[in-house]
Amino acid sequence: MKKQAILWEKLEDNKVKCNVCAWRCVRAPGKRGFCRTRMNIEGEMYTLIYGSMISPGSLDPIEKKPLYNFWPGAIAYSIASIGCNFTCKHCQNWNISQCTPTENGKSGYFDIQELEGKGMGLYETTPEKLIKKVIDSGAETIAYTYNEPLIWHEFIIDVAKLAHENDILNILVTNGYSTPEASAELVKYMDAANVDIKAFTDKFYKELCGVPFLQPVLDTCVRWKKAGMHIETTNLIIPNQNDNLEEIRALVKWVKDNLGPETPLHFSAYYPTFKMSEKRTSYEILDKAYNIAKEVGLYYVYVGNMRHPEGENSYCPNCDSLVLGRSGYSFTKINLKDGNKCGNCGEKLPGLVGQYNPKSKSRRFSFF
Ligand code: SF4
Ligand code: SF4
Repeated sequence: MKKQAILWEKLEDNKVKCNVCAWRCVRAPGKRGFCRTRMNIEGEMYTLIYGSMISPGSLDPIEKKPLYNFWPGAIAYSIASIGCNFTCKHCQNWNISQCTPTENGKSGYFDIQELEGKGMGLYETTPEKLIKKVIDSGAETIAYTYNEPLIWHEFIIDVAKLAHENDILNILVTNGYSTPEASAELVKYMDAANVDIKAFTDKFYKELCGVPFLQPVLDTCVRWKKAGMHIETTNLIIPNQNDNLEEIRALVKWVKDNLGPETPLHFSAYYPTFKMSEKRTSYEILDKAYNIAKEVGLYYVYVGNMRHPEGENSYCPNCDSLVLGRSGYSFTKINLKDGNKCGNCGEKLPGLVGQYNPKSKSRRFSFF
């Protein structure tokens, strides 16, 4: 639904400047920002998707976000809206991220030629109604995910405040294209994030994601980490686009030097979708990336969207024992004591936040 936005400035000639993401769009009356979900209406900025969701939500394993080092085994109540401030050619959720809300936020339509005339209805809720559903579901966390949550700023902040009042943790799954102003509000309520570092060059961001720079993403990671959020990062490797091993090494070194060796990095396999027809990522390149990250000194390196013998597991950085064995979204081995100490050497595991949830053995997932 339409609601007056926050984090914007009035400019001359009834123009407005939005400071919710690093685009910092300046728009004349009647025009929308790059994300298509915010609009200048008679000199004031509005969000069109406050409380507008693609469904009432769904229950996911927290590992699906992916978050492997934050409350392992927890359930994430996942919610999403439509729109994105990126236009990734490889977007796996393009049917929601590239959907544009109508001015009343009740439905979405596509500007894309192939899908002209198609659209989707949206489910409307309030933070209070949503939190009640989350509490009733038994989920320990809420994940703002699937499309880009940063552009849903007003709604996710209101929901996250209520979540904390009810001892529910907040998780962002995001491209990280934030600003210092938006981040200052987010870090008060968000507990963890998985940030996509899509590549380590501006060229990739320009050509594949439609945004000019990588740097705001890196700045966001550092800002959130310093503020105390638990950060994990994901790098989706696309053949011939960001699979250069020296580029991968540079990305890994940046993570280690700026976020710390305890910051998990998930390498993920791409498959052809939306506007990309490159073949799938090979096992060999994912394995090479995994080994580079281990060699550089990251403690927790994971491989997603493809089976890898070590890439689903967590190992103790002190004695190298397997502490959390995984297969898909199930645990094959739990070797922890006192919640988050290594069962073998007894060291507290750096970068493992929260405790393994024993109820995860009987986790049930569903849509509402
Ligand atoms: S959220 Fe970002 S893309 Fe959307 S209007 Fe604001 S600055 Fe522009
Ligand atoms: S940032 Fe994520 S949701 Fe947005 S277009 Fe890119 S892949 Fe899709």
